Amino acid sequence: MKERKRKLEKILIGVIFFCILLVFGMIIYDKATVNNEYGINEKSINIPIFVYHNIVNDKSQIEYEYMQTTKDDFEKQIRGLKDFGYNFITYGELKQFKDNEIKLKKRSCILTFDDGLEGVYKNAYPVAKKLNIPFTIFIVVDNIGQDGCITWEQAREMQESGLVTIASHSMEHPNFSELTVEQAVQNVNDSYKIIEEKLGNQAIKVFTYPYGLYTEEEIVELEKQGYIQNLTDNKINKSKSLDLNRLHRCYPLSDSKYKILLKILYRSIRYSCISYPLSVEIYLDKW
Ligand SMILES: [Zn+2]
Repeated sequence: MKERKRKLEKILIGVIFFCILLVFGMIIYDKATVNNEYGINEKSINIPIFVYHNIVNDKSQIEYEYMQTTKDDFEKQIRGLKDFGYNFITYGELKQFKDNEIKLKKRSCILTFDDGLEGVYKNAYPVAKKLNIPFTIFIVVDNIGQDGCITWEQAREMQESGLVTIASHSMEHPNFSELTVEQAVQNVNDSYKIIEEKLGNQAIKVFTYPYGLYTEEEIVELEKQGYIQNLTDNKINKSKSLDLNRLHRCYPLSDSKYKILLKILYRSIRYSCISYPLSVEIYLDKW
């Protein structure tokens, strides 16, 4: 009996030792390869696109966690991602990567803001300038200059910094799943007509569906018109199946840098091979 117990203990110690070695090995491998660059067909990499709405002064201004992040949390998250070796890229670079024109670092991500809210100019833009981080703002064209939103002057100033891309989140934030395909296309075309009148030609045209709602027909038609399209589904993009017309985006909320990294890892595994029933999906997405 004692003999058996001792044998079991030895096996257990062996397993623990093996696990520790494995984790260390993975950390060392990750550090050693973090600056490696890969082409679209070379290696499957995960490319998170982060979606924020407003960046506010402090916690007292947070009404919904997915809508507001404090400027302190935001700066910590961006610095944290940089510490982990993340490179912030633009949609233009993502398209070049898809077209096999450039390589991307193993850890690349995109930063986005929906709705064109004032806090982005006041609180996010200074951090981005300080850390030299590019980002994209999806504006609701009719709301520009309204209370709580950025103005066209601020949009132009940010664009001229070379760090900020102004893109479309529709004319007036309608529910696209209730529009006809013709109305949807008209809406996006109208929004870009005004953006280009105000800010000049836009090399890359990206559209984000309000409320994350759409129809498959709209995606197909907007693709034909040459738009890149974002969803807001809390999933992650995988380079091997990168679809510029169904780009996944996820919320950093007020998460610490470790929780963000953990969620990236979790999503990269979860969306590789596992498919859950819808109710479980909704629960997991709220995590
Ligand atoms: Zn929106």
